[in-house]
Amino acid sequence: MRPATTSEDSLQTPIRRVDTYLVDLIPERPRTDAIQSFTKQETIFVDVETSDGVVGTGYAYTIGTGGRAVLEMLRHDLVPLLAGEDANQIEAIWQKLFWATHGTAVGAITSLALAAVDIALWDVRGKTLGQPLWRLAGGARPTVPLYDTEGGWLHLSTNELVDGALASKRQGWPGVKLKIGKPRPQEDLDRLSAVREAVGPAFDIMVDANQSMTYAEARRRAHLFEHLDLYWLEEPLPAEDLGGHVQLAAATSIPIAVGESIYSLSHFREYLAAGAAGILQPDAARLGGISPWLKVAHLAEAFNVKVAPHFLMELHVSLAAAVPNAIYLEHIPQLRQITRSEIEIVGGRAVAPESPGVGIDWDREAIAKLRLS
Ligand SMILES: [Mg+2]
Repeated sequence: MRPATTSEDSLQTPIRRVDTYLVDLIPERPRTDAIQSFTKQETIFVDVETSDGVVGTGYAYTIGTGGRAVLEMLRHDLVPLLAGEDANQIEAIWQKLFWATHGTAVGAITSLALAAVDIALWDVRGKTLGQPLWRLAGGARPTVPLYDTEGGWLHLSTNELVDGALASKRQGWPGVKLKIGKPRPQEDLDRLSAVREAVGPAFDIMVDANQSMTYAEARRRAHLFEHLDLYWLEEPLPAEDLGGHVQLAAATSIPIAVGESIYSLSHFREYLAAGAAGILQPDAARLGGISPWLKVAHLAEAFNVKVAPHFLMELHVSLAAAVPNAIYLEHIPQLRQITRSEIEIVGGRAVAPESPGVGIDWDREAIAKLRLS
């Protein structure tokens, strides 16, 4: 029962100011896969300040296009709806913004814009309560196994792939991801085989086709790779091709991983209900934020499916640590230019930060210098 002296008003924390801006970050190294190269990270920021003076920061990203559209949607359509809203009612705000933009949802631009707001509100919540995100969102365990993607890009030579995998193994990391999708299947097979031979059997190798293949081609290559004991085959087909994923999951023993190109909770439900994926890779930015990310993770748990979040390790470390069914965090550092600290890695596991809020130590001066007007 609520104490008689506490009025409803005193439990509310109105939003009094919102700032939105964009920072372009150049990738730390060339990153290529079967369909694209990561030219720049357009990083869209939202700062939400409450009447208590607490400032929460959220962000979303693109890998090169559309970031200005996200910023414009925030400024023109979403931010005006936030004034005076109770920052504690994250779900109510999410629903309000989602339905207000329903004519352009579900879609990447809308989801990214929603995410930046939602993440800022979770940052406010954590700072207000003095709790780190990983505890606030569930608190399953403070560390998560880490796999490396930075040594596995498609343009790298076989020798470079082998060197990268061995370097990860020497650091005590349990796995690496290698891009696939060379014109000839044999070339993919040769590259993967060289890495498997170098690292030995007790080491996880994930492969990622970035939606580049047809069902027929993916089935052919999965068959070629079967003996390599791959940990997962990621995005073999376009994310829209649910039926193809169902067929492929039944045709290979390699677990199918999907999620980085899925923008809504209900689309994940379709994959789970159809048995189309063995591992989910939700991305909090592309899904609309932390709130829907947690729903996807819990939905996956109900289907006895593991999650391994896509990219954004600085944020996802806390979400993976929050839920019981996260198996891996992806190592792609991208925020060094604008943060003052890095993720702690101990014995091949990433450690969720204990600082209140989402736990990213933004370098405000660096951001101010890079911020586009
Ligand atoms: Mg991928």
